[in-house]
Amino acid sequence: MVVPLLCRQGVTDNVTLLDDYLAEVAISEGGEAAPQKKEEILRMVTFLFQSTQADNCADVLDHSRIVECVGRQSRRRIWLVQSSSHKGGASPYVCLGGHYCSCRNFQEVSKKATSLVLCKHLLAIRLAQAFGKLCVNEVDDGQLYAYMRI
Ligand SMILES: [Zn+2]
Repeated sequence: MVVPLLCRQGVTDNVTLLDDYLAEVAISEGGEAAPQKKEEILRMVTFLFQSTQADNCADVLDHSRIVECVGRQSRRRIWLVQSSSHKGGASPYVCLGGHYCSCRNFQEVSKKATSLVLCKHLLAIRLAQAFGKLCVNEVDDGQLYAYMRI
């Protein structure tokens, strides 16, 4: 696997390495990546994090609806991750800025962490475009702020 951006000077955390790698994929692949590239991306996630996180992320990509909401006026963006296992209209998980998720796992792990952490939802929103799983909705800013109060 050739990942030239991993050599960027001064980059020491795995989240930044993944974001740099995915930016390169987005440039080379355009929208949805080819199947072989998707496998390479999952291998990269396994390499940078843990195989269980890669598996959990793949599960989110397979079974959840990922929506990027863009504020019509502000152009701010948030991501909503609605699991297919959510019963009866349960609220989706809200991801902000690519570094915060409203899920319990993120809350618990980030309390103890000294660096950036990613839950399976934050990983999945990063991979969603390359996997053809990202739905983009433009919404009024009022609706965007309402989502953020979930
Ligand atoms: Zn989460």
